[in-house]
Amino acid sequence: MSSERIFIFDTTLRDGEQSPGISLNSFEKLEIAEQLARLGVDVIEAGFPISSPGDFEGVRKIARSVRGVAVCALARAIENDVTTAWDAIKEAERPRIHTFISTSDVHLKHQLRKSRAEVLEIARKMVALAASLCDDVEFSAMDATRSDPDFLAGVLAAAVEEGARTINIPDTVGYAVPSEFSSFIRGQFERAPALNDVVVSVHCHNDLGLAVANSLAAIEAGATQIECAVNGLGERAGNASLEEIVMILETRRALLGPVTGVNTTEITRTSRLVSQLTGYDVQPNKAIVGKNAFAHESGIHQDGVLKERTTYEIMNAATVGRGQSDIVLGKHSGRHALKSAMEELGYRLQEEELNQAFAHFKKIADRKKQVTAVDLEHLVSEEVRELSDIFELKSYDVAASSDSVPASRVVIEKEGGRLAGKSESGGSMESIFKAIDNAVGAKGKLKDYQVRSVTEGKDSLGEVRVVVEVAEKPYAGAALSIDVVEASAKAYVRALNNAYRAGAVK
Ligand SMILES: [Zn+2]
Repeated sequence: MSSERIFIFDTTLRDGEQSPGISLNSFEKLEIAEQLARLGVDVIEAGFPISSPGDFEGVRKIARSVRGVAVCALARAIENDVTTAWDAIKEAERPRIHTFISTSDVHLKHQLRKSRAEVLEIARKMVALAASLCDDVEFSAMDATRSDPDFLAGVLAAAVEEGARTINIPDTVGYAVPSEFSSFIRGQFERAPALNDVVVSVHCHNDLGLAVANSLAAIEAGATQIECAVNGLGERAGNASLEEIVMILETRRALLGPVTGVNTTEITRTSRLVSQLTGYDVQPNKAIVGKNAFAHESGIHQDGVLKERTTYEIMNAATVGRGQSDIVLGKHSGRHALKSAMEELGYRLQEEELNQAFAHFKKIADRKKQVTAVDLEHLVSEEVRELSDIFELKSYDVAASSDSVPASRVVIEKEGGRLAGKSESGGSMESIFKAIDNAVGAKGKLKDYQVRSVTEGKDSLGEVRVVVEVAEKPYAGAALSIDVVEASAKAYVRALNNAYRAGAVK
């Protein structure tokens, strides 16, 4: 093992955000970035600033306020991309520009329509440009694993020469197999000895379910940075899962050697926050963060664990931050109790935020006996979602019975003005959604509707997620309430907020 320390480069907000149906607003991105900083990742890839003004704003917000971690922005090897990336991150404590170009012949021929010599020249120029702006430059050779190893090594060596301090060798299409990948990485160290002077990184995709295994193989071959995402989010089948990489190194340290700087007890909370804000559920049997990852079902296993935990458990659930908090608040809990519970959970609320959170909390506590840590985390997600709302549900009224057509009325606030809408048709949810459409002046089509409870018990908070199609494009919305009708209406309004930001609703 060649290194003592593995750097964790988190790309949840860039590659993860490219997953279909995920569209995080800048407040949601900031909340996730703050949690990633608490988790202790080394680098946050905050976005791809040239891709849209919203993405630029999200990256800039993170660069301005998240501390103690490098904030990175992605840029194609194009001048305007690189300078725009720099504009977005230059106020970061530790800014990093990440620029990339394809090196495989298949990409050169069909996508870039450039020769190898041209690609080498562009890589040189753009790395040099990035290095003239920013001390910390990362260069990636897209589709590296399907590139000619000699040509690739030449490009990587040139990038180091021009000032790249991190060289990333991605398995962009998720094609590599671990034994093959580790010898590929070793081959690059041999062909381009300059790689010994920089951080060598890998970025593996999970198309064949091998992203984590390939990342580990690369570590064994000398890579010292792993690009990964929380819950394994990312394009197609996703990226290497952050929590799996970290817990493999943690659990098998005696065998493997190197360590990360991650505070593993923040893993569960990070996973939950990302899942709530992206709307991507974690499968129950997912390693480390799945609901059942530490549940023993068979009698023999249960018997063993009761006698001695290590009979069937290789990790202690507390190590990943499960079941640690015993925060319980109730309707008599005051502002101060809420503030200190939030602080225990890692959220530092400003006066105004605390007031808002307290008002929310009171509403929940009036109807729910015990407000737990999980409820409070959801309350934070709810607050974050609200920050960017243009339309806000002020009141609703729905009359439904088995013998009559449901009738709904809603009042929506928009920039201080009030919009009223009503509807009499369909089922009770349908009628309330139509009343909202009517108020806002939108034509929404409900494409997906999911309800789930946040905690256990009849008085659990309900979370509703919807996908609403407006002008033939899908917009997701989620909301939380003790009342499922209210949560549904708010989720629908939120989807219309997303449509509004995209210009699909006026
Ligand atoms: Zn990727």
